[in-house]
Amino acid sequence: MTAKEVVAFAKENNCQMVDYKFLDFVGIWQHFSTPITEFSEDIFDEGIGFDGSSIRGWQPIHNSDMLIMPDPATAKVDPFPEIPTLSLICNIVDPLTREGYSRDPRYIAQKAEAYLKSSGIGDTAYFGPEPEFFIFDDVRYSLEQNQSFYSVDSVEGIWNTGREEFPNLGYKPRNKEGYFPVAPTDSMIDLRNEMVQVLQEVGLNIEAVHHEVATGGQAEIDMRFDSLLNMGDNLQWFKYVIKNVAIRNGKTVTFMPKPIFNDNGSGMHCHQSIWKDGKNLFAGDGYGGLSKTALYYIGGIIKHAKALCAFTNPSTISYKRLVPGFEAPINLAYSNRNRSASLRIPSTNNEKAKRVEYRTPDPSCNGYLAFAAQLMAGLDGIENKIDPGQPLDKDIYGLSPEELKDVPQVATSLDEALTALKEDNAWLLKGDVFTQDVIDMWIEYKTENEIAPVRNRPTPTEFALY
Ligand code: GLN
Ligand code: MG
Ligand code: MG
Ligand code: MG
Repeated sequence: MTAKEVVAFAKENNCQMVDYKFLDFVGIWQHFSTPITEFSEDIFDEGIGFDGSSIRGWQPIHNSDMLIMPDPATAKVDPFPEIPTLSLICNIVDPLTREGYSRDPRYIAQKAEAYLKSSGIGDTAYFGPEPEFFIFDDVRYSLEQNQSFYSVDSVEGIWNTGREEFPNLGYKPRNKEGYFPVAPTDSMIDLRNEMVQVLQEVGLNIEAVHHEVATGGQAEIDMRFDSLLNMGDNLQWFKYVIKNVAIRNGKTVTFMPKPIFNDNGSGMHCHQSIWKDGKNLFAGDGYGGLSKTALYYIGGIIKHAKALCAFTNPSTISYKRLVPGFEAPINLAYSNRNRSASLRIPSTNNEKAKRVEYRTPDPSCNGYLAFAAQLMAGLDGIENKIDPGQPLDKDIYGLSPEELKDVPQVATSLDEALTALKEDNAWLLKGDVFTQDVIDMWIEYKTENEIAPVRNRPTPTEFALY
């Protein structure tokens, strides 16, 4: 949509409010609204000023004036407010120079797309993420219903905890058996379907939906692939819609990668490919039907995987998922047969569908940063012809330590990922996609606000142990 078309679109849909959404540094949508009477075509040129100092990881107070620039291509009707509301995703710019703000994740995604074009390698990078998430009872709702405060997941969770059941609801998926018996064992069908309908209403293409392996109503909803920036936007809508549909049904959703001890966590496998002039550059006649370009791309991801984890697995709890035994890939190998490798080449004879699936990322990531970083790692592999080594077509979970000794592994903690990022980041700085300021701030923010409070806090498990 152009600016003019957005104005007509708002009228057609009788929008009374305009909601401006933009990312904070960590990747959570922020927003503010104006009545439609304040809205005109000029807003798209002029932008709207706001105080950038109150957003985590952003400007210091003495330099806090910033401007949001709504992107007309992102116009939608927000499905949740009762009053019809036009929704626009915004870029952040400096009010004087009008230059994009280095810490705006959307700007980083735009620069990654621009870098791909300028490299001459391709013109479009496609991403298809498979976010998994858990559906729990909403405690606020449970209290209203006079249910036990501890009934975090009254329908599915009790089996695993061995707690008494009041009442016995039966047909609960057993530990690691959630994938995927029909109803009544699967009790989340209507809720997931409602999520899918609202996702479609806001224009997302949904390909599949199912219960996942873990209890706690673990689910997966898959979107059709899209270009990098669009997929960044789509993932924001995805999380927003899913959380809000859950809440209006007395449930709550979390994208944290490992909410339940001893059961599968939530990953966000990322399918990816690079195209040029309408041709998929990943299709070829090498291993798994891949081109040399695709194999070098894999080489880049493997080489930079530890540092890449800082963006694809950016939470302290990301590393509670990345342990053996729960289908979370930790071994940096590629294969077209098995899912125990971090990099899977889905079996297909269709050239257009040839792609690499990187399985390590999790949905606590900021999509714009995670997609951009994966692309930059892969491009570094292509530019430097990085050899990915031999494929590993065995069940990696069944290999002995001896057989595993030459297989590199992903980071084992956020600390390790950030340390790797500190040392290995030249591939991110190319084309000023990620700037030094962003890398330094990411490390500082994550260390002070996430690693320190988790590390310094005694946990219930330590009470049990000591
Ligand atoms: N939940 C698993 C993970 O953490 C993936 C399970 C699956 O999709 N096969 O990546
Ligand atoms: Mg899947
Ligand atoms: Mg899955
Ligand atoms: Mg997958």
